[in-house]
Amino acid sequence: LFDVLVVGGGPAGAASAIYAARKGIRTGVLAERFGGQPLETLGIENLIGTPYIEGLELGRQLEEHVKKYPIDLMKTQRAVKLEKKEQVEVTLENGAILKTKSLILATGAHWRDLGIPGEQEFKTKGVAYCPHCDGPLFAGKDVAVVGGGNSGIEAAIDLAGVVKHVTVLEFMPELKADKVLVDKVYSLANVTVVTNVETKAITGTDKVNGVDYVSRETGEATHLDIAGIFIQIGLVPNTEWLKESSIELNARGEILADKEGATSVEGVFAAGDCTDSRYKQIIISMGTGATAALSAFDYLIRN
Ligand code: FAD
Repeated sequence: LFDVLVVGGGPAGAASAIYAARKGIRTGVLAERFGGQPLETLGIENLIGTPYIEGLELGRQLEEHVKKYPIDLMKTQRAVKLEKKEQVEVTLENGAILKTKSLILATGAHWRDLGIPGEQEFKTKGVAYCPHCDGPLFAGKDVAVVGGGNSGIEAAIDLAGVVKHVTVLEFMPELKADKVLVDKVYSLANVTVVTNVETKAITGTDKVNGVDYVSRETGEATHLDIAGIFIQIGLVPNTEWLKESSIELNARGEILADKEGATSVEGVFAAGDCTDSRYKQIIISMGTGATAALSAFDYLIRN
């Protein structure tokens, strides 16, 4: 029986496990892929105090840091079910059931892919997902943003201040973003908005050099020269497995967590990209991971 069990081994899960273990309580962490999204990241430049680190190296250091403590580390294990009984029970894909007095959910999220040629091939070579992270890599260059919802238009406005020119490609005839964002993006001299187009392929050699799209009205094909492309068609929380549980999720599937990290189920806390936190970043995930662990400890000493 664990005092604290953490599901997820990204920045949030690692922070939760370390903060819990430092209280001297029985802590376990299970992760499908220890390291999380940083493993897909080339370079990280906004982890404050660490001016530059490669994503793979951060993943390795998270594991090394967790291993400094007596934490039960269960790698390549996937949680498929959560039940609140007398204790909290987590069922793994292999059928095992883990019991814990408190639980921290830190299963993160993944960016929705377009599923077009070039996208996988050029990931971290010009195909990007996070303007806060990778915008400065394209300073002085031309980029495209795919997606005209709030995140796409926010990305375009953000990037317009950093790069030379931004082209927004939206599938629908109109942008879906809030009016204030739409008005702002149309006011920017270095942003072009193209609607009613289907993005067909990302081209390049060793890195991205262009994008092909087709008008959905006329069928006319266009090739645009760009150095980078930001895919902004949705960040999907890894919470599918919680839909049958009593954990409350919002319409996007994000776990509702208050500022202490508490969820709708007593003794269950959540942190990082799987929650409804407004911004999804490594440093924020680490901070909310620490918060969730301290809240879990507080819960344990009061119950
Ligand atoms: P994640 O990192 O997503 O980790 C989730 C963990 O949960 C993983 O270990 C996963 O295997 C595990 N998991 C999921 N489901 C289950 C399950 N059912 N059972 C068991 N385990 C499960 N942020 C920055 O601050 N700076 C950057 O430069 C930056 N660049 C990025 C570049 C890319 C390409 C991407 C994709 C993201 C980038 N981000 C960056 C965002 C950052 O990586 C995330 O905000 C951060 O990793 C979120 O941490 P997390 O621990 O909440 O989730």
